[in-house]
Amino acid sequence: MSDRFVYFDAANSTLLDDRVVEFMHSVMSRKLGNPSSHIHSAGIAAGHVLDEARAKIGALINARPETAILTSGATESNNLAISGFLRGNPSYGLVVSEIEHYSIINQARRLRLDGHKVDYLSVNSDGLIDTNQLQRVIKKGPSLVSVAAANPEIGTIQDIEEVGRICKQHGAAFHCDATAAAASINIDVEKMNIGMLTLSAHNMYGPTGIGALIINSGVNISPLFDGGNQQMGIRPGTENVVGAAGFGEACKIVSANRDEWNSSLTTLGESLREGLSRRVPFMHFTGHPEKRLPGHVSFWVEHVEGESLLLLLNMNGVMAASGSACSSNLKGKDEEDLAASHVLTAVGVPTDICAGSITFSLGKYNDSRDVDHVLSLMPGIVEKLLAMSPSYSDYMRKKEILHG
Ligand code: PMP
Repeated sequence: MSDRFVYFDAANSTLLDDRVVEFMHSVMSRKLGNPSSHIHSAGIAAGHVLDEARAKIGALINARPETAILTSGATESNNLAISGFLRGNPSYGLVVSEIEHYSIINQARRLRLDGHKVDYLSVNSDGLIDTNQLQRVIKKGPSLVSVAAANPEIGTIQDIEEVGRICKQHGAAFHCDATAAAASINIDVEKMNIGMLTLSAHNMYGPTGIGALIINSGVNISPLFDGGNQQMGIRPGTENVVGAAGFGEACKIVSANRDEWNSSLTTLGESLREGLSRRVPFMHFTGHPEKRLPGHVSFWVEHVEGESLLLLLNMNGVMAASGSACSSNLKGKDEEDLAASHVLTAVGVPTDICAGSITFSLGKYNDSRDVDHVLSLMPGIVEKLLAMSPSYSDYMRKKEILHG
């Protein structure tokens, strides 16, 4: 194993910012009570920590602090947004893009099985939704539309402002999952007409286990849990005070530094993409070539299993993610987890020749040495895997027969 630490998996979790850790330590060392114990000082002090966190979260996305409902993360926020909204507004149909995160796609599947009206927005090969299809679908009746600002697997960024404009024009409610986008894209819930917005702290240099659903006034939502009256009863249960403090601080740091990080991440991402296309054979990039997250490079290599590539990278100190194998003929009975990702299928990646995609998602701690390290490793690793690949030997055999 290598002692290098090259972390290219920011789309799954960013590394914690040191200032967030320090801030959480300082909050943890204070004597804080239950934030609902408004009657005594220790409870009031905890309530102030939450108020401050909500103010910092709101400032990042131009939302009023009191609209930020704290949750355990994006999965819970997405469930509250979809299932909570539809409980409160049962006559609404659900409209989701085909490439939403599982925490949305699996709700859509369940709702449809339960007889609820669900429409899926298809995407083109770059991963962009078709806004004409959106207009057609939401004209049919009251709708809740859920489209993520950016996709963590292929990096594509949607035109959220346009989606918000169309939703407003047709009276549809709009939920946007900004989990993958918030650390790099400027989101303004007012300007973009976003009724509900999902955020997760561990995707923006904050701690795991804390997120938020911004719920604009006028959006009627029913709680998913029975409990007390915390957070207006919309999300009962004692809030994660230290987590919220870390989340708020992470939002403040993102607000102040995002532009600077983006320019460096864009440069690193471009040199990584350019280097890979020059040095690695059988390379297919996924997602939109320009409308994509800065520092996000996603691809698959014909004849090469994504999981194997990731294991060899990890042995050399490089940590990245796979979008699952797509080739069903590579999948054993005990390898259900290697089923094609719905995202790759939606963008038309050919499942007969793709054996798994890779996502390199860089964060603010990466530099050009990390990119150089990965570029120096990739050709050798791919060569090794091609030598072991049955589909590559088939390909070579056929080529020899054809060309003699
Ligand atoms: N939505 C998106 C776009 C995501 O990338 C993720 C995973 N980071 C989630 C939702 C779920 O987040 P969590 O696992 O933190 O609940």
